[in-house]
Amino acid sequence: MYWQKLSKTTIQQKVFDELQKNIDFITEPVLGLPGSSVDQEQFHNPSSLKEDAFLSVLINNPNHIGCHTHKNGERYFPGTKQIEIDLIKICAEEIFGAEESDYDGYVTPGGTEGNIQAQWMYRNYFMQNEKAKPEEIGVIFSEDTHYSVYKASNLLNIHPITVKVNHDDRKILLEDLKKKLEEAQGNGIRYLIVHLSMGTTMFGSIDSPEPLLEVIKQYFKHYFVHVDAAFGGFVYPFSQEKIDLSFKNTEISSIAIDGHKILRSPFGTGVFLCRKSLIEHVQTPEASYVYGSDFTLCGSRSGANAVYMWMTLMTYGSHGWTELIRQLIARTDYLCKELDEIGVKYYRHSDMNIVAIDHHAIPEDLAKKYYLVADNYSNPQWWKIVVITHVTDDMIKDFLLELKTSKSVN
Ligand SMILES: *Cc1c(COP(=O)(O)O)cnc(C)c1O
Repeated sequence: MYWQKLSKTTIQQKVFDELQKNIDFITEPVLGLPGSSVDQEQFHNPSSLKEDAFLSVLINNPNHIGCHTHKNGERYFPGTKQIEIDLIKICAEEIFGAEESDYDGYVTPGGTEGNIQAQWMYRNYFMQNEKAKPEEIGVIFSEDTHYSVYKASNLLNIHPITVKVNHDDRKILLEDLKKKLEEAQGNGIRYLIVHLSMGTTMFGSIDSPEPLLEVIKQYFKHYFVHVDAAFGGFVYPFSQEKIDLSFKNTEISSIAIDGHKILRSPFGTGVFLCRKSLIEHVQTPEASYVYGSDFTLCGSRSGANAVYMWMTLMTYGSHGWTELIRQLIARTDYLCKELDEIGVKYYRHSDMNIVAIDHHAIPEDLAKKYYLVADNYSNPQWWKIVVITHVTDDMIKDFLLELKTSKSVN
């Protein structure tokens, strides 16, 4: 994996150069578009924003509607669109090991849309290519999977199939997988979407494709594998060297990533990636007024989101980002070592920055004070800590001190 870090001036200049190529709603006779630059009355001092590349893009307000790795796409914002294409290239080729130009992708509003887009694409593939009926299609995933998987199957009218995990190591129980596959077959499911997680929301646990697919293949001939890397996509590929959840693994057909979690882009930012010749299955042919057609769920979307993600990746470079993740992992190691010392039970995947602590160890007021997140607020079993950029060693030390005190009081 390699992409170069750029200086702040170079990044700003590159964005301004590309922005020049977009149409300008103020100076050009734009009569036909149902969009404009944002209303500058809302800014205290709009002229000061003109020096800032990202805010200038926000004000220019480019609409990145469509999928720009596929066709030429929309014509009015070619500059910032090129930045999106460059961003998708880094995500697909460098981070997730795709072959050059052997993928499609776009900047989504987040992980939820990436996951829906994947199920939508495979459902339509099965319906169009195999004459499948929706009731013959299932999506299978672990019980730790993000709830957006249910949202998608509900929208698409396909069967959600939940597989149990082992309580302590959060691994999918192969016995339960077999049982669920048999039941699915009995219920007339013939086509399967396998939804794997690169970092579950609550635990940061990582699904291993190989043992699961070995079992799945004994039951199903037709399946696709999607990777939900919404949380882990900018962590796991940088904290270890395995490639089984990347495009280097021929079993993997699509990946969803979030921009607004670890990468800290503005909310409403993610990336969807898939292998070539799949996204056509969600082309909406009726989208005839969109030059280049539409292959996305969301339709209109802000080009500023793509620019922000690209700027962040350029600010760090691959080495810089790897170093930042290494620091987060080291900080998480420290937290876990201390928890071990005071005898507190927790789950943590060694290459991830989430620690889910057994609820017995955490007094409610401490969980509240440190904004810990529960797996389930009506009956918490786990409280999680996400060691993200703003979480300092001092914050962790303070927390541990209070945890120790509460333990000695009890
Ligand atoms: C956050 C998250 C999602 C949903 O992402 P949004 O950006 O909230 O749409 C999906 N999957 C996982 C694993 C997540 O952590």
